[in-house]
Amino acid sequence: MKDAKNEILGYLDGALNLAEKVICKRDMSFNYPKVNFDYTGDIGGGQMCVRDNNLEIQIKEGLSYENQKGLAVRLLAHEVVHCLRPTTFDKINRLEEGIATWFGEYFLEKNFPGSDVNDVDDFNYKSALDDFKMLGRKELLSAYMNSKPELKFSDITPTSLCEIYGTKNNDIIRNLLMRFSY
Ligand SMILES: [Zn+2]
Repeated sequence: MKDAKNEILGYLDGALNLAEKVICKRDMSFNYPKVNFDYTGDIGGGQMCVRDNNLEIQIKEGLSYENQKGLAVRLLAHEVVHCLRPTTFDKINRLEEGIATWFGEYFLEKNFPGSDVNDVDDFNYKSALDDFKMLGRKELLSAYMNSKPELKFSDITPTSLCEIYGTKNNDIIRNLLMRFSY
């Protein structure tokens, strides 16, 4: 019988494929991400690390238990978004965290419908998520990202985001492109 850890790992391909479909194609100069359960940091339940061209999603061992599975899958899907256009931890902006948080919930709802772990409770993630939702029409951003296969979310400028959305500079756009505070 498969244990919960293997079951969680089984969602990686599906999450990556769906993220490429609804967000943007991944930068192919990075290797396919590896996942392990040895995260020991204190921010959330995991993280994505980039070393040279290698991507590693780390998840807390405790999330691999059967009763935490939904949370682990949401986190895995969230971290998968950071694998699309990898950047260093110090450069991640609120837009990228907003998208990652949105996708984590979206993927969870698709695979564990009605799950009670669906709501993100951390204030900063929730606020990035809300601002991302306010932008509206994700497909405009997707088309732009797909037209620039190596562009990182952290390199999007307020001017280009305004152009993408056909709007004047506004607080939401300015705030979304600020560095995310963990
Ligand atoms: Zn994140």
